[in-house]
Amino acid sequence: MSIVDTPERRQLRELTRAFVTREVLPHLDDWERAGEVPRALHATAAKLGLLGIGFPESVGGSGGDLLDSIIVTEELIRSGGSSGLVAALFTHGIALPHMVAAAGARTGGSLSGRLGGAARLGDDDLIDRYVRPTLAGTMIGALAITEPGGGSDVAGIRTTARRDGDHYVVNGSKTYITSGHRADFVTTAVCTDFPGSGELTLLVIGKGLPGFTVGRRLEKLGWHCSDTAELSFVDVRVPVTNRIGAENTGFLAIMQHFAAERLSLATQAYATAQRCVELATRWCRDRETFGRPLASRQLVRHRLAEMHTRAEAARSYVHEVAVRVAAGEPVVTEVAMAKNVAVAACDQVVDQALQLHGGFGYLRDAEVERHYRDARILGIGGGTTEIMNEIIAKGMGL
Ligand SMILES: Cc1cc2nc3c(=O)[nH]c(=O)nc-3n(C[C@H](O)[C@H](O)[C@H](O)COP(=O)(O)OP(=O)(O)OC[C@H]3O[C@@H](n4cnc5c(N)ncnc54)[C@H](O)[C@@H]3O)c2cc1C
Repeated sequence: MSIVDTPERRQLRELTRAFVTREVLPHLDDWERAGEVPRALHATAAKLGLLGIGFPESVGGSGGDLLDSIIVTEELIRSGGSSGLVAALFTHGIALPHMVAAAGARTGGSLSGRLGGAARLGDDDLIDRYVRPTLAGTMIGALAITEPGGGSDVAGIRTTARRDGDHYVVNGSKTYITSGHRADFVTTAVCTDFPGSGELTLLVIGKGLPGFTVGRRLEKLGWHCSDTAELSFVDVRVPVTNRIGAENTGFLAIMQHFAAERLSLATQAYATAQRCVELATRWCRDRETFGRPLASRQLVRHRLAEMHTRAEAARSYVHEVAVRVAAGEPVVTEVAMAKNVAVAACDQVVDQALQLHGGFGYLRDAEVERHYRDARILGIGGGTTEIMNEIIAKGMGL
């Protein structure tokens, strides 16, 4: 039995599937048109324990580890949801981990301790003010790193935070921020030194603070049910107590948590591929051309076989790397390879799946059309394919 296929994880898979069938599928088209998922969905997912998967019970989570999170993500898509749904409903997966680690709750040891600073009382306070309510489904969080000037070069961030007594005064802007419209707070990467110095700090910035404005809702190729925002900060006074960990520990914290984000995106990629194989197989069994089902043609069967092989190979590799990450192995290069392998498999499979659907595949009525659009972001978000290649090349000693 695979380590990701235990009886407990099969139950988690069934719970997720039931959630999607009951709470998501009847409404997903409406949410795609509305450009966001409703807050009530967060509360429902929290009550079922799904929102808290991968977060310790000590901070209001449901327990479980990275592999459990992967099972939930996989099943949200395979049972008819989408990567856009995952992005919208599970934004806390990228907004909260830095706070949890700084308080020492997730790891059992303090991240700030390991970074050379002491775990601070303020970090426990952040757990109560932001982490617990978010995992209970009553608050929504976002993570803001990317700026209009660029996203790949994280060290080049130019949003500044100048210390003024018990506050930081924040100036700058962020863009492409997932759940930025609905978010009650934004875990924000700022520069406490001079702009572009690479010395980053993470601040939790609450919605509603004077000078903090949320710009227009960005319209996108895919992920339509996931709202995406531009954020502007003009002399926003953020209490020092909203700092995560010590000053200038933000860059390392961001890099450490990229592993989980990238594996989530890799999971979204192979799960989308698997779903599209299922949709295409069903379609090719039912659709007749020239008096015979499409699936009766050897060319079509072989194409489906290749799509299935690509999706399964990506899934196996992502799981293997996830097991190593969960065991605490430093596998930065392998995480980058897992993301690129899964994204490449997904890109090929969604394209082929749409083609096999013929004209119907191009219509909004076809589920495969949504996956085709949604898939395109997976090689861009959380570090692009090219940036992953840079990491891999570095790992090769190049
Ligand atoms: C729908 C959506 C949701 C997002 N959600 C969030 C979010 O919640 N929070 C957040 O902070 N950001 C978010 N992002 C931003 C995303 O992480 C960035 O778009 C991504 O990191 C790339 O940054 P960029 O767009 O500035 O591209 P750039 O950094 O300008 O790169 C442009 C191109 O150049 C390539 N490139 C860059 N540097 C190199 C190099 N050294 N060598 C070779 N090629 C290179 C890149 O791969 C890319 O193809 C989101 C983006 C989208 C579209």
